[in-house]
Amino acid sequence: MTDASSPPEELAHPRHRFDAPRKEEVLAGALEVIDARVQEDEHLTPTSVNWHYTRACNYECKFCFHTAKSSYFLPAEPGGMDEAQLCLKRLRDAGMKKINFSGGEPFLHPKHLGELCRFCKETLKLESVSIVSNGSKIQERWFQQFGDYVDILAISCDSFNEETNVKIGRGKGMHIRQLEQVRNWCNMYGVPFKLNSVINIHNVGEDMTAAILQLSPVRWKVFQCLLLDGENAGPDALRDAKELAITGEQFGQFLKRHETVACLVPEDNTRMKDSYLISGASTLGPRRSAPAPLLGAPRPSWTSGSAS
Ligand code: SF4
Repeated sequence: MTDASSPPEELAHPRHRFDAPRKEEVLAGALEVIDARVQEDEHLTPTSVNWHYTRACNYECKFCFHTAKSSYFLPAEPGGMDEAQLCLKRLRDAGMKKINFSGGEPFLHPKHLGELCRFCKETLKLESVSIVSNGSKIQERWFQQFGDYVDILAISCDSFNEETNVKIGRGKGMHIRQLEQVRNWCNMYGVPFKLNSVINIHNVGEDMTAAILQLSPVRWKVFQCLLLDGENAGPDALRDAKELAITGEQFGQFLKRHETVACLVPEDNTRMKDSYLISGASTLGPRRSAPAPLLGAPRPSWTSGSAS
């Protein structure tokens, strides 16, 4: 929150160096990308869409590539909810069956998030509505109000040693307690619970088997820490994750250690890089034939791929 005497957050914070795009720009960009992508290839259907709902986050994970943070958030703008719903409807008409709200941290805007989940489920009748969150901002009353409109809630946790989470930047020491709380609410309100972990230099030696079995997620997605030039690596990056990177062999050893965990789904760097097409307002312009991944749009963006 800022008051009248303080500079806007995006100016006060050195990482917020991108201009917030105008609402019309974002909407036009999103709709243009959707239309262009569908027209380019009649066989291309955005079946599974990952909406990077906001790039802002209350955590500072050192490997995170959502470093180019914009304070702009379409649904909170005047008329923005209607326009967000229009985008979602256009996507549904183009073949979207599943949507995942991710970030940044989607629960920085819990009411808008809940209303959009309701819209996707009740009005658009999508097969699947999911959310990926760090869990820290979730409250029980959100489940009471909106739990019926969510098919899967994924919470990110990289370690069951709180000191390791702090070292990574995943919270300030309360992450596991909140994770367990959210897991209980998922049980109480019948929302399937999923867990995501990023394996990096700080947690690659950990044995998480007992904790995972106790939490019993429907799926435990395990990612190898990914370096993206210009995002979390290289001279132009706002965050440098190089020191957290692990080799494929180290990742393999982690997977081997957890081979008895049946819900584990691994995602190594090669698979991750090939799985996503990210489209944002930055794709505006004459570009019409872009089958290759457009990674790192510095604005609210849409991903078509294996998001959840
Ligand atoms: S919680 Fe997610 S979005 Fe936030 S800093 Fe960590 S990885 Fe990035």
